[in-house]
Amino acid sequence: MIVMNEIMEYLDILFPDPKCELNYTKDYELLIAVMLSAQTTDKRVNMVTNVLFQKYPTLEDLKDASLDDLIQIIRPIGTFQRKAKNIKLIAERLLEETDGVVPNNRAFLESLSGVGRKTTNVVLSNLYGANVIAVDTHVSRVSKRLGLSKKNDDVITIERKLTKKFPKEKLGKLHHQLVLFGRYHCKALNPECEICQLKNICKEKKKDF
Ligand code: SF4
Repeated sequence: MIVMNEIMEYLDILFPDPKCELNYTKDYELLIAVMLSAQTTDKRVNMVTNVLFQKYPTLEDLKDASLDDLIQIIRPIGTFQRKAKNIKLIAERLLEETDGVVPNNRAFLESLSGVGRKTTNVVLSNLYGANVIAVDTHVSRVSKRLGLSKKNDDVITIERKLTKKFPKEKLGKLHHQLVLFGRYHCKALNPECEICQLKNICKEKKKDF
């Protein structure tokens, strides 16, 4: 527990008020933005959603949009054909089954096209304050470096281990902090080990620090 406290205290210093860096103004915009963020960066997603949500400002507009036009708009983020289809399918299901509201319902969210456990956790955490950890590439890397999970652990195992190790009421905030720590400090290449206050517990700090 001492190690967990050390990690939480340091992350609280670095990111006292962490937020999701995807831009959105409506609940379904967050859902679609997170779905689009698979295999790309939040920065790129924000670039395309800025155009997408201005051109198609309602769920009805997204449902009825031409697939070719959606593909053109989201082309910069990769896997655009599948993601463009997912946008239309998600809009259709929300309109038909939930009156256009993104519900606080894990089973429903995970049944949407292109929406898995990670996307669901991000959405439930941001929209409903659920204390859950979404394991993305940053959370996975940081957890392994800090010895919170093993090298070969899959995302479900990492989520289970983090959920067990940290206080439940901290998980939502911790998720954002681990993402930001991985994105800006404990980067995949060239992590900033020289200034990192967790290097005493880190398993993978760069040599000489
Ligand atoms: Fe990441 Fe380096 Fe800090 Fe380890 S010492 S947690 S690798 S930044």
